[in-house]
Amino acid sequence: MTQKTIHIIGGGVAGLAIAWRLAQKNIRVVLFDKSEIGRGASWAAAGMLAAVIEAEPGEDVLIPFVLQSQTMWPNFAAELQHYTGCDVGYRETGTLFIAPERDDEGQLKQRYDFLKARNLPVEWLDRATLRKREPFLSPRVTYGFYSGQDHQVDNRALVDALHAACKKAGVELHAHADVQDIKISNDRITHLIVNGESIAVDDVLLAAGAWSGAINGLLQNVLPPVFPIKGQLLALQMDMRLPLLKHVMWTPQVYLVPRGDGRLIVGATVEDKGFDSTLTAGGILHLLRETWEALPGIEELPLIESWAGFRPTSRDDAPILGPSSIKNLSFATGQHRHGILMTPLLAATICEYISEGTLPQIAAPFTVARFK
Ligand SMILES: Cc1cc2nc3c(=O)[nH]c(=O)nc-3n(C[C@H](O)[C@H](O)[C@H](O)COP(=O)(O)OP(=O)(O)OC[C@H]3O[C@@H](n4cnc5c(N)ncnc54)[C@H](O)[C@@H]3O)c2cc1C
Repeated sequence: MTQKTIHIIGGGVAGLAIAWRLAQKNIRVVLFDKSEIGRGASWAAAGMLAAVIEAEPGEDVLIPFVLQSQTMWPNFAAELQHYTGCDVGYRETGTLFIAPERDDEGQLKQRYDFLKARNLPVEWLDRATLRKREPFLSPRVTYGFYSGQDHQVDNRALVDALHAACKKAGVELHAHADVQDIKISNDRITHLIVNGESIAVDDVLLAAGAWSGAINGLLQNVLPPVFPIKGQLLALQMDMRLPLLKHVMWTPQVYLVPRGDGRLIVGATVEDKGFDSTLTAGGILHLLRETWEALPGIEELPLIESWAGFRPTSRDDAPILGPSSIKNLSFATGQHRHGILMTPLLAATICEYISEGTLPQIAAPFTVARFK
C-alpha cells in the first residue's frame, strides 16, 4: 500500500503542530512556507493562553473550544519539551485585569460580571490584595480581578520547538516555498505550483494564517473568509533582580506579558489595514501611554523591540476547521486572537480529521459551511 501524503500550506503554529501530529501517525507530510518557517502571526503574538479573561459576549460556541485547549497546555508543553529538549516557556503566572482610570472601572466590573455569570473562575481583588501581588502598580489602580487559569507560553520558543519536533518526526519542511497557485480538476486539487514548480498532490491542508483568504487558484466560494487584523506590539526589558510585573496583566486598553527572561511584551493595537506592517507613532504611543498609566515604573526600562503581525480573522472571529467544498482540501485557519491558545486542540482535531476522516464533535461548529 502506498503511504498517504499530506501537503500543508503554511508553517506557523497551526501547520507545524498538525504536521507533527500527523508525522507521529506515520503519515508523510510535506510543508511549504513562503518565508522563514514560523515568522508570521505565530512569531508576532504575545503568547497569552487567556481562555477565561478574553471570553466575550457572543462567543458561546467558541468558549468551550478555547477552554478545552487551555486544559491541554500543561501536557502539550511537557510532551513537546520532552520530545525536542526545547523549553517552550510555558509559565503558570495567572492573569490580572485592572482599571488604571476611573472611567475604566465600569468596563472592568461589566467584564467581571459577564465572566462570573458564565461560571468562569475569576476572583475580585481589592486594592490591598492587588498591591500585594503587584507592588509596582500605579497608586490610582483601585480594583481588579484575577484569573488563576490564564497563563502564558513563549510563542517564539513554541515555534522553534514545533519546528524541531517536525524535523525530528521526519516532516519535509520547505522554507521560502511560495504556493503561488493551485490546480483543480473535478473538485480535487491535482497540483500545487510552488516557486514555479508543479507538484502533484493527494491531500492538502490550508494553514496559511491571515493569507488563507487569498490563495490563487481557489475560487471565491471555496476560499475561507479570512482576512488580516494588524496588531502592533513592543517589548521592554525588566531588571530581573526586581521585576516590575509578575502576572500577565490586562487593562481595558493594553495587555502586558512578563516573560521568564525579563522581557515585558506590551500589546496590542487592533487595526483593519490589510497587510500594511508599518509601525506607527500613534500605535506605539498608545501602547506606552496606556502601560505607563498602569505601571509608571516602565519609564526607566529599555525599549528593546517593536513589531507588527496579522491575526488570521474570520467573519465571526472563530476558527475555520476541517472540510472544504474541494474534496481533498481541508482548513485550519481563522484562529484570530487565540491561535496560540488553540494549538493543542486544533492539532488534535485536524490530525484526527485528516487521518480518520471524522471531525471531532468539539470542532464541528467551526466548519466553513456555517458561512454558506
Ligand atoms: C499582535 C498579535 C498578538 C497575538 N497574541 C496572541 C496571544 O496572546 N495568544 C494567542 O493565543 N494568540 C495570539 N495571537 C493570534 C495568533 O498569533 C494566531 O492566531 C496564530 O499564530 C495563527 O497561526 P497560523 O499558523 O495559522 O498563522 P501564521 O503564524 O501567520 O502562519 C501562516 C504561515 O503561512 C505562510 N504562508 C502564507 N501564504 C502562503 C503561501 N501562499 N505559500 C506558502 N506559505 C504561505 C506564512 O508565511 C506564515 O508563516 C496574536 C496575533 C497577533 C497578530
